[in-house]
Amino acid sequence: MVEQTAPSSEDSYLYADLESLVVPGRQCGTCTLCCRLIAVEELNKPRSRNCIHCIADVGCGNREHRPHLCRAFFCNWLLVENLGPEWKPDHCGLVLQPVGFSNGAQCLVINVDPDRPDSWRRSPYFDQIKAWAARAAGQTTGDVYYVLVIVDERRIVVLPDRDIDLGDFGAQDQISIERKVTPLGASFTFRKVSGSDSGVTTRFV
Ligand code: SF4
Ligand code: SF4
Repeated sequence: MVEQTAPSSEDSYLYADLESLVVPGRQCGTCTLCCRLIAVEELNKPRSRNCIHCIADVGCGNREHRPHLCRAFFCNWLLVENLGPEWKPDHCGLVLQPVGFSNGAQCLVINVDPDRPDSWRRSPYFDQIKAWAARAAGQTTGDVYYVLVIVDERRIVVLPDRDIDLGDFGAQDQISIERKVTPLGASFTFRKVSGSDSGVTTRFV
């Protein structure tokens, strides 16, 4: 069983200083999708709701005073050279975000534009997401890797051979992960648990 807690500022890549890692020439341009999809607690902004400071096709209207989370957020499209123009978030409707936990779990979160809830199932995205899931599931030692699709409050764990729809999550709900390794490879159990459950969990706001 892998124990996870909500990410602290040290745990999460969200808070890392990634600016120096942005692929040269890559910039947000007219994209503002993360300002809609990502929750910003400092602003009381829930997931999948427009930020009051966001100016459509332009960017942040509060750059000088935006929260630390916003300053430090760089989606994977900005950071990963292999993600081509088809992965630009405002084009594909997907904001890819790696989240790491100090207790040994690494999650690739695929935040989906709720206005295009099936965009992650389209080509070429679905095949690539499944390939990432296969790579994650192949990890039998060390950190547990997994791929999580989030559409509004709904969480779907993507595995190579199936998707596990965990349903809508409330503020206290978390994901419990169990990895069993046999001579044939690793098998995983993902469950939705409440905050009071003693299981072990990841929580995404
Ligand atoms: S989703 Fe990525 S490309 Fe779009 S605004 Fe956010 S950081 Fe920039
Ligand atoms: S404060 Fe600015 S950067 Fe942060 S979510 Fe709002 S519009 Fe985006």
